Amino acid sequence: MTISQDLFSRAQESIPGGVNSPVRAFNGVGGTPLFINKAEGPHTFDADGKRYIDYVGSWGPMILGHNHPQIKQAVLDAVENGLSYGAPTESEILMAEKVKALVPSIDKVRMVSSGTEATMSAIRLARGYTGRDKILKFEGCYHGHADSLLVKAGSGALTMGVPNSPGIPADFAKHTLTVSFNNLDEVKAIFAQYPDQIACIIVEPVAGNMNCIPPVEGFLEGLREICDTHQSVLIFDEVMTGFRVALGGAQAYYNIEPDLTCLGKVIGGGMPVGAFGGKRAIMDHIAPVGPVYQAGTLSGNPIAMAAGLKALELLSEPGLHDALESKSKQLCDGFQRAADAAGIALTTNYAGGMFGFFFTDAERVDTYQQATECDLERFKRFFHLMLEEGVYLAPSAFEAGFVSTMHSDADIAETIKAAERAFAKLVA
Ligand code: PMP
Repeated sequence: MTISQDLFSRAQESIPGGVNSPVRAFNGVGGTPLFINKAEGPHTFDADGKRYIDYVGSWGPMILGHNHPQIKQAVLDAVENGLSYGAPTESEILMAEKVKALVPSIDKVRMVSSGTEATMSAIRLARGYTGRDKILKFEGCYHGHADSLLVKAGSGALTMGVPNSPGIPADFAKHTLTVSFNNLDEVKAIFAQYPDQIACIIVEPVAGNMNCIPPVEGFLEGLREICDTHQSVLIFDEVMTGFRVALGGAQAYYNIEPDLTCLGKVIGGGMPVGAFGGKRAIMDHIAPVGPVYQAGTLSGNPIAMAAGLKALELLSEPGLHDALESKSKQLCDGFQRAADAAGIALTTNYAGGMFGFFFTDAERVDTYQQATECDLERFKRFFHLMLEEGVYLAPSAFEAGFVSTMHSDADIAETIKAAERAFAKLVA
């Protein structure tokens, strides 16, 4: 028995499913989850001491690699002054100023402690601002686990086969309208069906919770136009894409300005952080300026601010995001070449520092339907073969992969070699 196996059976006695977030349990791929002891640069190390090239990156935030020495030092320095005050600090202003400077659509920003809180609060704000109840989301997009948003959700909800979670009253869920990602006709039709009733559209501008699906040309522009026509709030959920797809997020990469933006993980540099921000006229509806209530004991926590500020400072280095994207491209091209050579049907997607690969005959994958129709059994086998090879991919076909600045050419070449061997075994 490995140490991970032993820990997993022990964990299941006292933690539901042995994990504190479902996808970690490896339900999507079977087998025993690895218990991680340590992470450094592009690597994680499991409890049995095995080293992996990691493409999960704590599900997104580790753009600069694990345990970056300067972020670690910023945390250690901050700890000297206490862990939490529940009172305003200058570091929160610095963080807000930095976020505004990097994401120009944001006039004001409120810090929270998770992506779920960011999207939940942004939805409440959009509803309070417009006085409308209905919201529109896309099938397969995941925006955290708030009640209104666990409707046809992606990520773990999709992996576990519960895109519509029990426990959410039908009276809540009925206000969440869902249409297909990358399909503007469906968006127009639903706005025609519910005129003046839709408070907002919330979208992952690059979908990263049903594998990785970038927007087709004109999709985000179309959403902007529809929101303008119907006075609905356009919310970009950039919890994953923020500072990863480009320094200014997907909104900079595709040059579309949302009204509100949700941010997460990245701005904590690995600490538990989220944020939502946007146009002044909307943000001023939030308490204590306006009536829409939102609060948090640990919001703007000084340790998290210190880590996040250092991360954003390091991410601001010119050229960093171009280099990150070329790593994604290198990896995707390598997987494609290796799959073609082995006679395996595969296609890949990437945007900035996030990527996805699909076992399918389709030339490209643009929709939820296509993503769910891929060969999931083949993915599972590939995942485990790669794990044996020392490459840690997301343990579900419905998650994006992430590269970091610490993934060297040699790491990527080693990953592609591992994929070549894995593909050969898949067709053997
Ligand atoms: N939005 C998106 C796009 C996400 O990817 C996630 C988490 N993967 C969330 C929201 C929720 O964030 P958290 O898990 O920090 O609550």
